[in-house]
Amino acid sequence: MKAIIAASDKTAQIISKEVRPLKYGEALLDMECCGVCHTDLHVKNADFGDVSGTTLGHEGIGIVKEIGEGVTSLKVGDRASVAWFYAGCGHCEYCVSGRETLCREVINAGYTVDGGMAEQCIVKADYAVKVPDGLSSEAASSITCAGVTTYKAIKEAQIKPGEWLFISGLGGLGNLALQYAKNVFNHKVIAVDINDDQLAFAKELGADITLNPLNCKVSEEIQSLTGGAHAAVVTAVAKSAFNESVNSVRAGARIVAVGLPSDSMDLNIPRLVLDGIQVVGSLVGTRTDLQEAFQFGAEGKVVPKCELRPMEDINDIFSEMEQGKFTGRMVIDFRNKTE
Ligand SMILES: [Zn+2]
Ligand SMILES: [Zn+2]
Repeated sequence: MKAIIAASDKTAQIISKEVRPLKYGEALLDMECCGVCHTDLHVKNADFGDVSGTTLGHEGIGIVKEIGEGVTSLKVGDRASVAWFYAGCGHCEYCVSGRETLCREVINAGYTVDGGMAEQCIVKADYAVKVPDGLSSEAASSITCAGVTTYKAIKEAQIKPGEWLFISGLGGLGNLALQYAKNVFNHKVIAVDINDDQLAFAKELGADITLNPLNCKVSEEIQSLTGGAHAAVVTAVAKSAFNESVNSVRAGARIVAVGLPSDSMDLNIPRLVLDGIQVVGSLVGTRTDLQEAFQFGAEGKVVPKCELRPMEDINDIFSEMEQGKFTGRMVIDFRNKTE
């Protein structure tokens, strides 16, 4: 079968790979599609170390073709996910307390093991989340990473319906965050981005207030319009967005960090202590979070924007991504095989 691997020259390559026999608890998926994420770009560029030869992809959706010994959670014909959280150890303090994504022995698809950008992929059956009927495979692929990440981040914000949520960055992650915030959690949303097209799209999706930091002082505007947001979800990858969020929230607010710039943020200690500001990081989501995020997608509350592309386009997709040329998700389609 064909697979897209991270090559040693920091490109992606399509090669032929033999699928090994299934071990206990594993299942083999015939892949339908797999989204291309910024994280794949980092893996391909060896930013997290050299994993050349590994199949990329952690936004995969496939149909179970075969199950190994001991598998009870999946059956042949089920549709299931290949996610960044490929598996945890199952017995550590994090795995047994609903925080499995923090497992210190976590295995990540498309990084520590072969991922979903291939015609076939092996999963640990208990960790592959079933996709509900009524949700297309391409939409499910976006929810497997971007969707569940933002859904979980809004949960972490811990605010009530009707309260103000500040969403910074309205790209691939942010526009899904906005849809979950509006259509699932019933929050009022302040959408902030430096790109006016993204803001126009945010308005269409129901953002209550849209602001562009290039045209106004965002924090002052938010403080005067709302008295400060009750929480912030920061998906932007600029340090300035994190600092802006500190100034845009009210006392007692939570700031949830999702974007991953390699900087420190500024939060002065009096602001932290006197105003009781909390800052938490949020990383993807658990299997239960993904199940829930899928279900809201199946109910039509969240509609990812994605485009199907053939395998051969992978290096073009990475360069388009580096140049910021597209807004939705590019999804590799394995259903239309070239041979
Ligand atoms: Zn991803
Ligand atoms: Zn664990």
